[in-house]
Amino acid sequence: MTPKDVTVVGAGLAGAMLCGFLGRRGHRVTAFESRPDLRTTDIDAGRSINLALAARGIAALDDLGLMGDVEPLLTPMRGRLIHDRDGSETLQPYGSRPDEVIYSVSRSDLNAVLLNAAGASGDVTIRFEQRCTGGDLGSLRFRDYRSETEYDHHPGTVFGADGANSRIRDLVLAASGGTVTIDPLDHGYKELTLPAAPDGRPLLDPNALHIWPRGGFMLIALANLDCSFTCTLFIATQGPDASLEALDSPEQVETFFGHHFPDFATLMPDLAAEYLGKPDGALATVRCTGWSAGDRAVILGDAAHAIVPFHGQGMNAAFESCTVLMDAMDRHPEDWGTAFAEFEAVRKADVDAIADMALENYIEMRDSVRDERYVLKRRLALELERRWPDRFVPRYSLVMFRTIPYAEAQRRAQRQAAVLDRLTAGVDRVEDIDFDLAARLVADLHPEEVAR
Ligand code: FAD
Repeated sequence: MTPKDVTVVGAGLAGAMLCGFLGRRGHRVTAFESRPDLRTTDIDAGRSINLALAARGIAALDDLGLMGDVEPLLTPMRGRLIHDRDGSETLQPYGSRPDEVIYSVSRSDLNAVLLNAAGASGDVTIRFEQRCTGGDLGSLRFRDYRSETEYDHHPGTVFGADGANSRIRDLVLAASGGTVTIDPLDHGYKELTLPAAPDGRPLLDPNALHIWPRGGFMLIALANLDCSFTCTLFIATQGPDASLEALDSPEQVETFFGHHFPDFATLMPDLAAEYLGKPDGALATVRCTGWSAGDRAVILGDAAHAIVPFHGQGMNAAFESCTVLMDAMDRHPEDWGTAFAEFEAVRKADVDAIADMALENYIEMRDSVRDERYVLKRRLALELERRWPDRFVPRYSLVMFRTIPYAEAQRRAQRQAAVLDRLTAGVDRVEDIDFDLAARLVADLHPEEVAR
């Protein structure tokens, strides 16, 4: 592949990873990031302090040879720990095998590993506090926040990894004739930090993803390495009662948490001050076509396919997109226009599928996990996988522990859901399931897709 001059806009998770892949292939990379360098400046990590890392993200990090650096940053989570209103707790394991776990990881620590790797990968320069404000694909306009000046940059090929509100997407779509729809969710979030106990111990089990499901809203918590937890309330943005809008005074916050999450409220010091001091977060799904403009520019990550966070897959999908794009560029090293078009052709159905599954998972997490029929089907799914592991793999596992394309996972899961519906009709316990019928139904599910 002939080395080229390329510009990456955005050095968040996807942009920093892309810099590493492009640098390793010998390209001369200049990246522009609007925020300060998080390795040298004490800035907050932006959205979500920590994230769930799963198989797809791990596969991409492995491709870059980075898992050795990332592993010390990980806290394994082996299932959902459901906190009921009465204070009781139930663990719903994520998988049927001990290695089927997901990992809590700090966004800024992971980003730092990727930035270090990018810098070491070749001719890669990352310029911080530089925001792309517009221009066109032949000459991008930037604002330098350090000197408060504006300048133009001739970018070579542009890779837009500048997140859900991407400027580069606007420029690419103007050239490609593509379209974007941004569907805001009518629920948003508030992030709180639950500190470690005074003796330094964690106040919750660090090896689970904690959920307080309450029907119309939920609280979740993921562990950090310092034994604190990042806790996120997902709730309607507007409305007279349970909403971000309504929780606007210390009294409202204390009454609300005391009523719905009493066990959590007793653990959390200065709850109202913590809550009211944190910004409201907004959530949206970005669906876009026309991801590239010939060989001049391409977008990826949240810029092309932002999703709601309820499957813990936005970053995992962004990382996987980096590898899908690189595969296409490796297949067409001298024809990036074809590579970029192929990238979208291969990837679009998959990111649409995970966008849908992520929206569905919000209902599952905040509501269904408490439902007896849901719990029965979930237990049965794990049992079917235990008996016929090459034919039945629960949807959650297909998305989180496998790398089968998302669209195939979605199709497969729909067929499996029909099997679960049929087997659980009129049955209340896994012990009463007709496993002869199960054997016949599962035999019709083809094994090849779940092998990956
Ligand atoms: P971003 O991370 O948004 O990075 C874009 C970068 O571009 C930023 O650094 C930004 O400063 C920079 N930038 C933006 N505009 C410009 C500009 N004009 N010029 C220069 N630079 C610019 N995903 C998971 O896989 N697991 C999870 O558990 C998970 N949890 C989440 C929880 C919450 C509450 C939210 C909101 C998201 C969560 N996600 C999760 C999704 C994940 O955060 C995103 O999918 C991921 O960050 C996408 O990476 P990205 O690099 O494409 O975009």
